[in-house]
Amino acid sequence: MGEPFEQASFGATTVYFGERRGKYPHGNSIAVRGRSESVVIDPSLGLVARPAAERPRADRVLHSHCHEDHFAGSFLYPDAPWHFHEADLPGIGSLDALLDLYGYPEPIRSAWAKTVVERFHFTPRPDARGFRGGDVFELGGARIEVIHAPGHTRGHSFFRILPDDLVVLADVDLSSFGPYYGDAWSDLEDFERTLASARELRARWYATFHHIGVIEGREAFLERLERFAAVIADRERRLLEYLAEPRSLDEIVRHRFVYRPQDAVAFADGVERRSMAQHLARLERAGRVRQIDPGRYRIAPS
Ligand SMILES: [Zn+2]
Repeated sequence: MGEPFEQASFGATTVYFGERRGKYPHGNSIAVRGRSESVVIDPSLGLVARPAAERPRADRVLHSHCHEDHFAGSFLYPDAPWHFHEADLPGIGSLDALLDLYGYPEPIRSAWAKTVVERFHFTPRPDARGFRGGDVFELGGARIEVIHAPGHTRGHSFFRILPDDLVVLADVDLSSFGPYYGDAWSDLEDFERTLASARELRARWYATFHHIGVIEGREAFLERLERFAAVIADRERRLLEYLAEPRSLDEIVRHRFVYRPQDAVAFADGVERRSMAQHLARLERAGRVRQIDPGRYRIAPS
């Protein structure tokens, strides 16, 4: 591994691995070649880094969702139609709409705006087209079926590629980091429903966008999926332990449950706040956590 322009073929499907095997901010892009059309899914920084002759051709560009690392190379295909799930479609229409999707407060919002433009080549495409779960792209001898898998973003989708029997899992990336639901347009409980339905996915190959790469076989997939899903319960368990003493959301954010204290991530505080507020809200609904003074929370006596 570690070759800069590594790729792997699965019939009509080719995976173009990004640097460090697609570890964020890089990612693994996918091309599907049919007799009548070629499609690229999630053009990443890895495609930008390749010489033009080594990039896949595309008659259209599909996106699993509207996030910076998944459209970072889409500008390489200005003449092709770009597609997103209709729920994520507003995000590609303008920089402001994209920043609303993340929902980070200032001053993170302005710094992040600069990053998505300069580092991830954000290019507004108000003419991008929407798809829905169940939609099919026929490429001639190969087809791509959309499976709506929300939670990470509202429109996050899987793609099933036939006849290669490969499912694109995108940011259900099976990493040890675990599920990311830290944006304004993320939803913890949608993510959990998506993880539950992912257990029913049957395929030979499972392709993740980040460094886990392509997994062969349902058994290996399910094992990783369980470990990935368990991170949610682990964050919640650690939050409950922390709430043995009364704490404010600001203290929870500073303590860090999603990132590690030493992780230098510019938007970490925003992600911690959005992620852990969702845990807090549902623990409160379930009667497991109580607000003892305004803005201070503690576990409820059982
Ligand atoms: Zn994402």
